[in-house]
Amino acid sequence: MLSPWIRHRLVTEPEVAAAVLARHSPAACAKFVQEVCWRTYWIGWLEQHPGAWARYREGLDRLLERLDRDAALAERYRAAVEGRTGIACFDAWAAALVETGYLHNHARMWTASIWIFTLGLPWELGADWFLRHLADGDPASNTLSWRWVGGLQTRGKHYLARAANIAEYTGGRFDPRGELVEQAAPLPADAPFVREALLAPARPLQQVRSGLLVTLDDLHPESACASPSSRSSPSEAWASCAVLDASEVASPLPAGAVAAGFRAAALEDAALRQSALTQDAVARVDAASVVDWARARSLRQVVVSHGRVGTTRALLGSIGPALDAHGIALVQWQRRWDAVAWPHAARGFFAFRDHIGALVGEGEAMNRSA
Ligand SMILES: Cc1cc2nc3c(=O)[nH]c(=O)nc-3n(C[C@H](O)[C@H](O)[C@H](O)COP(=O)(O)OP(=O)(O)OC[C@H]3O[C@@H](n4cnc5c(N)ncnc54)[C@H](O)[C@@H]3O)c2cc1C
Repeated sequence: MLSPWIRHRLVTEPEVAAAVLARHSPAACAKFVQEVCWRTYWIGWLEQHPGAWARYREGLDRLLERLDRDAALAERYRAAVEGRTGIACFDAWAAALVETGYLHNHARMWTASIWIFTLGLPWELGADWFLRHLADGDPASNTLSWRWVGGLQTRGKHYLARAANIAEYTGGRFDPRGELVEQAAPLPADAPFVREALLAPARPLQQVRSGLLVTLDDLHPESACASPSSRSSPSEAWASCAVLDASEVASPLPAGAVAAGFRAAALEDAALRQSALTQDAVARVDAASVVDWARARSLRQVVVSHGRVGTTRALLGSIGPALDAHGIALVQWQRRWDAVAWPHAARGFFAFRDHIGALVGEGEAMNRSA
């Protein structure tokens, strides 16, 4: 249940890997490190295929409009998200998702599979429902995992939830025999996405009045890129710091209370930590007020961690030109972990896996054990 913290980088991937490697042999913790690297892999893949996010969002917008016109679909959708399908396991996971903001990976796979293949609902609506309620809701892991369950991500390979598997792994709590569609073709393949070059990491300009902008994709300002005036003490390093509230942008529909609460508290926590570091108040801004903040502090440059495809990329896409219009540069820095890992994530996970040992500073044995 570390995922909400890792997703928002309250804890970073190298920290998690180093912590387990400090206590266990590489062979013993290889599987866990591999799980952590699935996140890195999905992000790296989406960074190179941003069309997958754009197509998902277009499909979602069309489906939300259709819900207004298609009463039968709207009722089946409502029954699913309100946990009223009559399939006890699905209804329990639907309730748990909303109440706790978390589902175990296996339950996510079962829920998504039943959504697509038994309930026959469009996957984009299910992905949106997850993204709004999961405290770890993440454009890359969520969208691409839903595509994977449907058989779109790995062509022709889909995940079919089986009643016997559910009965076994829930210790008999559920036994949906006869209730699930266990034979179904994968969703029809969609057009391949164009692979795009990764955005090159930029270097902040030196010796210019700079502000640090912290986003929900990276709430670890303690290990943020060094300030351009880092020769000074931490309190003088940044002329000003701000956290960007972007919590409501991932979907046109409202976020779940648990997920929204987690994100608000996480932003607040990052602001308090950054404030303690610089001994200065940290501003709370949204996309509309960033420019006012930067101008009021006479900034010449705003430094922000790489805007990942999804919510943050979209926001920075509008903030960048707005700052530029006032002669303020928006510079996106990148963590070493991302810069090293993402280029290997253009294809399948197994090709990516061969680089995990190098990524975490271990040898090839780590890749083989994984
Ligand atoms: C349909 C579906 C939707 C999903 N949506 C999301 C999402 O929005 N956000 C999200 O963070 N994860 C998502 N996942 C991936 C995975 O289910 C969660 O990361 C995991 O369940 C988190 O629980 P944990 O921290 O207990 O994981 P653990 O099993 O303890 O794993 C440790 C860490 O490894 C990472 N991790 C493990 N499995 C995966 C995986 N398959 N993909 C990516 N990272 C992984 C997480 O950071 C996790 O905290 C989704 C999976 C499916 C099948």
